[in-house]
Amino acid sequence: MTARILDGTKIRDQVFVELKAEIARLAAEGIRPGLAAVLVGENPASQLYVKSKIAACGQLGLASWMHTPPASITTDEMLGLVRDLNNDDAVDGILIQLPLTKQVDAKRVLEAVAPAKDVDGFHPVSLGHLVSGRPGFVACTPAGCMEILRRNEIRLEGANAVVLGRSDIVGKPMALLLMHANATVTICHSKTRDLPDVVRRADIVVAAIGKPGFVQADWIRPGAAVIDVGTNKVTDAHDAESLLRNFPARLQKFREKGAALVGDVHPDAVNTAGALTPVPGGVGPMTITMLMSNTVKAARRRRGKARIDTVQTTAGAR
Ligand code: NAP
Repeated sequence: MTARILDGTKIRDQVFVELKAEIARLAAEGIRPGLAAVLVGENPASQLYVKSKIAACGQLGLASWMHTPPASITTDEMLGLVRDLNNDDAVDGILIQLPLTKQVDAKRVLEAVAPAKDVDGFHPVSLGHLVSGRPGFVACTPAGCMEILRRNEIRLEGANAVVLGRSDIVGKPMALLLMHANATVTICHSKTRDLPDVVRRADIVVAAIGKPGFVQADWIRPGAAVIDVGTNKVTDAHDAESLLRNFPARLQKFREKGAALVGDVHPDAVNTAGALTPVPGGVGPMTITMLMSNTVKAARRRRGKARIDTVQTTAGAR
């Protein structure tokens, strides 16, 4: 069996078309949704992520602002910046790029973001809404995973779903979303016993652990749907040879570039799963897409005349 590929790039394009229609409706009301990003210090990976998020705003015609305080910024100064952004009516969404530098109390900063502008879905108010099944902002990566499942018509009701990883930003919200969609959810972590057997019982596997190719192909029940959240840069030639041995084109690319992006699920799982998100090109593009969706939703809720979510993404519908 070769798995159906769950293409995140294609879904991103569909959602962008829908968002553009909603952005045009908002423009007719004199509203241009805006996202303010705060990037502390000079972490190259964070710089790249924020750049992509700002570029997506440009692609959709959203306003965007990038604040780049130095790595030496204090918690109080960060709180002052967040306060200013909370008070700026043109700003609908506030994104604090993580990780923050050590001396900054990240929890205090995230909690200072006005819940109405919490487009990352990290504020305790947003998390509370998610737990109780009320409308609110859902963290972008799990919201993107749900969008992939929904738009590919993968049946969730009654399905056995296994979520690998219990982080606040992926695993926990993902498990809640699946539970609200009437799946029977098992959450696994580093202390879970007999992990392969637990995964073998799953109709749906969501892997978010941060270990390249960790979930073996023979752990996947034939026909299961696999959402691979992992984004791991592999630079060791021995690891690459072992992970990509059945993918000569990818291996060749690795030899040319000296690096390859591999998910948490072994690439060979494409031969056991029924459906699978590729890495790259699966969950990755959906994370930024849902950030855009949340920003448009925030603008509609804060400033729109008809305060309804007209773009019915999974996150929007919640
Ligand atoms: P994280 O905060 O490091 O959490 C990792 C989770 O995996 C923890 O709950 C940990 O368990 C669990 N884990 C670690 N080793 C394990 C093992 N051997 N068996 C079972 N569980 C194990 O990571 P995260 O932020 O959730 O991110 C996870 C992955 O997703 C990373 O590769 C990250 O790069 C990727 N990611 C991708 C996107 C995207 O847009 N594509 C967005 C976010 C994250 P404990 O709790 O017991 O330690």
